Amino acid sequence: MKIRYFDHAATTMVKEEVLKEMLPYFSLEYGNASSLYTLGRNAKKAIEEARKRVAKAIHAKPKEIYFTSCGSEADNLALKGIASHYQKKGKHIITSKIEHPAILETCKALEQQGFEITYLKVDENGFISLQELEASIRKDTILISIMFANNEIGTIQPIYEIGQIARNHHVLFHTDSVQAVGNVEIDVEKMQIDALSMSAHKFYGPKGVGALYVREGVEFDRIQDGGHQEKNKRAGTENVAGIVGLGKAIELAHNNLQQYQEKLISLREEYIKQVEEKIPNCKVNGDRIKRLPGNANLSFEGIQAEELLLKLDEKGICASAGSACSSASPSPSHVLLAIGLKPELAYSSLRVTLGEENSKEDVHFLVEQLVEIIPKLRK
Ligand SMILES: *Cc1c(COP(=O)(O)O)cnc(C)c1O
Repeated sequence: MKIRYFDHAATTMVKEEVLKEMLPYFSLEYGNASSLYTLGRNAKKAIEEARKRVAKAIHAKPKEIYFTSCGSEADNLALKGIASHYQKKGKHIITSKIEHPAILETCKALEQQGFEITYLKVDENGFISLQELEASIRKDTILISIMFANNEIGTIQPIYEIGQIARNHHVLFHTDSVQAVGNVEIDVEKMQIDALSMSAHKFYGPKGVGALYVREGVEFDRIQDGGHQEKNKRAGTENVAGIVGLGKAIELAHNNLQQYQEKLISLREEYIKQVEEKIPNCKVNGDRIKRLPGNANLSFEGIQAEELLLKLDEKGICASAGSACSSASPSPSHVLLAIGLKPELAYSSLRVTLGEENSKEDVHFLVEQLVEIIPKLRK
């Protein structure tokens, strides 16, 4: 059976060109980047090349990039590292209610340590209010952490304006950009971003490697003790092959961004249009315009998304209800509740996230299946 993959927000395949660049670092070039002989220096060189590629893609300097083991670690390092360093200045942090668990759970951990967190609400399209953000800033606020784009509903926050507000009030601005990198243009200078998290497996790189950008001059403490890798900010022998893969993947994504966006937006609009035409009582979640190119999250009144996913799987279709991270939990999506959906409707949402391998034919096949399955589930 042909597999049709519509879950690119959960993870993506590793592109062939990416894998090709990674392979030597598993075998012939297996040196430890901290070793001084040639084999070690080759590994070090490969890491520094990747660092340049990451920096270029987001308009940063190479020395502002720190490699981590994943997006979650980058989020932890940003929040805990900055909180730890600046706690003498204040212990207040502002975030939103629709962040990924890597941010929300980290904030909970910080609350245990005496930090105070403000969780901004969002409107029916998933946007925070800039007025509420500004009004929430206090004398002891040290950090604003707002995600660039939401992993469930795709809504893209007004990042430029948030950066402006943070800068005006001398508060640091971190953004979880795990869903944004490779999908939208990012410029940490123009957007006045002080720290930014990314993860390779969300843009056709390997799993188990991420990166954190931290603006030069912004301080943060390390959160893992051990060796002095990554300028003493992240202990542990570097995942050289993974880092090389991340570097190649971000370069490819960056060079191909506009074309990729156009392709995904056209497939997404085709999907939404057809579903709205052919299936009554459905609703698009998230903003219709300011959303990730490949994200289409729709609620279908009167069904259980779990049942729908099983039926789709029988047809070789991979999609998701809400996010991959919360699919094991029985409670409805915190993001869909935050945009005002009733729990029943939150349980009835299908997240389709399009990507590189998808074609118009895939989308038509998916719609055909939905047209057949949904009325049956509604009975
Ligand atoms: C996937 C994801 C993460 C976590 O990244 P990992 O590399 O899987 O740890 C964090 N934030 C967002 C928005 C994500 O989509």
